[in-house]
Amino acid sequence: MKTQILSGYDGESVRVAADILKNGGLVAIPTETVYGLGANGLDENAVAQIFVVKGRPQDNPLILHIADTPDMERYAHDIPAEAYRLAEAFWPGPLTMILPAKPIVPKRTTGGRDTVGIRCPDSDVTRAIIRAAGVPVAAPSANTSGKPSTVTAEHVLHDHDGKIEAVVDGGHSRVGLESTIVDLTEFPARLLRPGGITPEQLLGVLGSLIVDEAVTAEIDPEKVVKAPGMKYQHYAPQAPVVIIAGSREKAADYIHHFFQPGDRVLCFQEELPLYADCNPLAYGREDDPATLSAGLFDALRELDRPDIGRVYARCPEGGGIAYAVQNRLKKAAAFHIVNAEVAQ
Ligand code: AMP
Ligand code: MG
Repeated sequence: MKTQILSGYDGESVRVAADILKNGGLVAIPTETVYGLGANGLDENAVAQIFVVKGRPQDNPLILHIADTPDMERYAHDIPAEAYRLAEAFWPGPLTMILPAKPIVPKRTTGGRDTVGIRCPDSDVTRAIIRAAGVPVAAPSANTSGKPSTVTAEHVLHDHDGKIEAVVDGGHSRVGLESTIVDLTEFPARLLRPGGITPEQLLGVLGSLIVDEAVTAEIDPEKVVKAPGMKYQHYAPQAPVVIIAGSREKAADYIHHFFQPGDRVLCFQEELPLYADCNPLAYGREDDPATLSAGLFDALRELDRPDIGRVYARCPEGGGIAYAVQNRLKKAAAFHIVNAEVAQ
């Protein structure tokens, strides 16, 4: 199969992409979070292809993307008032809500669950495609399972050229990390995955929020988890990643002490001069964490090479979008963190 590259700024692309979806094919779509690998979310066979192409475990559910808030009522029932308040505040945007699923949503899409994740993405072309297709688009991140997510059309082609019918090129994803996921089937709501909508923003609307343990710690793959995606290894480049926590100076001392030829340093732009002899790669500015979220997956993909020995990574602290960056980087490091303030 030849994968077509469709411009995200051209009306004809909308028609072509919508036709592929209506015919049961796969199209990678741009969104503000990451690129998604899309199929008609109501078509079991089309959805099955997503799992094949990505190599995704069958119990890992897909998010249904809709073009307009009222459409959530077609796919979810018993929608609480909080969901409408969150949609009003944050849609279109990087927020997925877990709601009770209507029977019209196939079990393949929900990973066998009776709940469904729904999101209205902040991408005009993608919402135009969903409207033109007339169906919700089930789309996980468009990376090969386990690998860092795709934030450009080039990343998608790297992973799936020749395996999907088209990719719509809408430029670099603005947020650069997957959506925030909130489970609204329980009260108080539960944060299953941090993302571009921050815990502080959610609390502002909801008043209370439980943070699921999968957000902050490594979880046992045998355990029954609320967010199945969180139990799988994620975002990891081929080389082992270790996060070096602590002050700039202490971290640099530690890294210089242990650095071997072939290792890499993943750091903040402000730190580049400290690592001039350690082949550093900056993923954004520590004083502007949105640049770190936008740049993290580009960097992790660049580091996904067999000839790299070990990656020493610097991770931002604090809340806001930095909270989501910490979550992804810690998962990429399989929670291997060294505190340079106390380590020798
Ligand atoms: P991805 O689109 O690749 O970022 O993955 C979507 C993630 O959303 C899954 O891995 C799950 O963790 C989460 N998710 C989607 N639907 C549900 C659901 N019904 N219940 C719980 N988590 C869900
Ligand atoms: Mg993913």
